[in-house]
Amino acid sequence: MLRVELIPALFDNYIFLLIDEASHKGAVVDPAEAKPVLKRLNELGLTLDCIFNTHHHFDHVGGNLELKRETNCTIYGYGSDAERLPGIDRLLNDGDFVSLGESRGRVIFAPGHTSGHVLYHFEEDKKCFAGDTLFSVGCGRLFEGTPKKMWNSLQVFLDMPDETEIYCAHEYTADNCRFARTLVEDDQNLLVYQEVCLEKLENGQPTFPTKLSVEKLINPFLAVSRESYRQRIGLGHLSALQAFTELRRRKDSF
Ligand code: ZN
Ligand code: FE
Repeated sequence: MLRVELIPALFDNYIFLLIDEASHKGAVVDPAEAKPVLKRLNELGLTLDCIFNTHHHFDHVGGNLELKRETNCTIYGYGSDAERLPGIDRLLNDGDFVSLGESRGRVIFAPGHTSGHVLYHFEEDKKCFAGDTLFSVGCGRLFEGTPKKMWNSLQVFLDMPDETEIYCAHEYTADNCRFARTLVEDDQNLLVYQEVCLEKLENGQPTFPTKLSVEKLINPFLAVSRESYRQRIGLGHLSALQAFTELRRRKDSF
């Protein structure tokens, strides 16, 4: 069973340290920086086996080269984006598997935020590393993709089991909740979630991982798949994709 630690980095990033207790090996997802990772590995007496990159942005790959130099780890990333992923060793395709100890993660191509974004879904461990596609109560910006591409990528989450834990790369939850409340001001589930998250943040704790069951319920960018939700937010006349596009547009200027 994988254990996951969150390492805060840069301004609002999280680096995820995956730990396989049996082999005493570790992997990191999206090392924004090397220093805090090296420090934690040292404290835990872990060897860094590999890096899993979700996409090429500097706040996800910034620590790649230094970590490779210091630990000789293997760097995995999406094959077609290889030239933008510093130090990449293994080129991945949609449907490939990565592993740490006994745990296996499926690589899922999920473009929209960037053209070469992937997710890592450790199905048996019920964990998905979402990079900058799905956030808690939000979704990533469309830097290199159309709304349709991102919408298709988000469908992947709707197909995952409800109990899946989602690890998102940025602490945007508080802001996302404020936006969601402009749509459904009095939603009890959202209100309770917002309160819990604000309390965590006040105590210096991350709001992650988040449960997919919760996101399906209160994340507007997933909830627009339901006609009842679209009606509730006054977008009942639109298709799911059109409503998603409209919400993404509003969030961009929020
Ligand atoms: Zn990004
Ligand atoms: Fe990012």
